[in-house]
Amino acid sequence: MKTKLLLILFLSLYTATFAQFKDDEECVSKELSDRELQKLPWYGNNEFLYKYLAEKGYYNETKNNILYRVPIKFWIYRKKNKTGGVNELGIKRLMNDLNYYNISNKTGIVYYVSGIKYINKDKRSKLGYYVEAPMLTIFRKSKGCINVHITDMLRKRKLRRRTNIRGTYNTVTKAVILQSEQSKTSLTHEIGHYFGLLHPHRNYKKRKGKQEAVSRTRKFKGLIKSELICETNGDALCDTHAEPKLSKYVSSNCTFTGANLKDKWGDNYKSSVNNIMSYPAYRKCRTTFTKGQIAVMLYTASRNKNKCAWSTNCKKGKAYKRQYNFDVYEPDNTMKMASMISLNNQQYHTFHKIYKGKNKKETDKDIDWLKFKLNSTNKDKIVITTDDGKFAKSNIEMFLYDQNGNLITQSKAGSSTKVTMRASNLVRGWYYIKVNKTNKIASPNIADYKIIVTIKK
Ligand SMILES: [Zn+2]
Repeated sequence: MKTKLLLILFLSLYTATFAQFKDDEECVSKELSDRELQKLPWYGNNEFLYKYLAEKGYYNETKNNILYRVPIKFWIYRKKNKTGGVNELGIKRLMNDLNYYNISNKTGIVYYVSGIKYINKDKRSKLGYYVEAPMLTIFRKSKGCINVHITDMLRKRKLRRRTNIRGTYNTVTKAVILQSEQSKTSLTHEIGHYFGLLHPHRNYKKRKGKQEAVSRTRKFKGLIKSELICETNGDALCDTHAEPKLSKYVSSNCTFTGANLKDKWGDNYKSSVNNIMSYPAYRKCRTTFTKGQIAVMLYTASRNKNKCAWSTNCKKGKAYKRQYNFDVYEPDNTMKMASMISLNNQQYHTFHKIYKGKNKKETDKDIDWLKFKLNSTNKDKIVITTDDGKFAKSNIEMFLYDQNGNLITQSKAGSSTKVTMRASNLVRGWYYIKVNKTNKIASPNIADYKIIVTIKK
């Protein structure tokens, strides 16, 4: 065990030293070596990826497009007085953004929070990039999920210069490390690395043998190599453009300003600026994954040892029991993370399973928090009602709180899926609903319910 740890440590230090000789990048992930890349089935054969998508039924619109649900464990480094890092609202925002960019790009992967661990130590609110951060990610690691570490500052010191790094993915410990202030797509980008994606500008400064050509039809001339250049050089994907590192070549209105630059074959760059794996200085420009990138992520997920636990199709044995079916309002397990429900609009929620404790035993004690706002003091009766969902029936109990956390009322102890809670004379402000399930549901089933808040005269 010790040898293994030492080896990992050595490797991460090696990785770090290696990165030292690269440009200053905002996301300093060590990428695959050329030799590792050459082993991948789409290297020199991008057709593989499109066939893969077809095989997985990806193009079949009638099919549920979600192939994997992947849990994320957050490790939040903050000051002793619990300031800094991100709070639960921040985590909810990170998760919403992550799922937004995955769903809008139809990547087939969605994410949920499997746990949050706060580390309240002053010295950890600034992490050193080379040693401290990799070390922490060796020891703070939960199984079966993607570990995401968040600190106020991730610092790289090079000679006398200090650079702050917005985020990175450590290929050795397989951890994502982010600064607490990042762009909306930072987490999506780093998880893109976790699922095998490379920067589209990879090797853009290198010679002909490694640089990606602008032309999509240009081939190597020679006996050894005859593939399309865009299928082997750069990120080895032809459906992402060849591009320079975009930091200097994108304007604030997201247009490409590097059209005068030429590749080694003399063609002018015609880069797109919206790829999530690119580096436009204005991160708001990043919105898109290509089909090739989506296929790489799905293929990489299919080779992960947790694939069955994450898959929505794996129905065999233990793994199936570990299925999660979280709803679009997650994470909403605490009052601070409550999701919004507008009046008279029915919502659909699930009670998914959650990991608990050191042995990662699962429980189905998922709690949902919702909130609604009254814009004026309301003399009428507020009625909150739940109803059957699609899956197993759950006995529900509800609690209503004001914005200071004072209990206003509660439903009868849960003995039915259909429960009602009433309150009147509520003053203007936010109100919070906690929904519990009081019966156990046998695995692999899952319980769910519908809920609505109405005003009755
Ligand atoms: Zn990156």
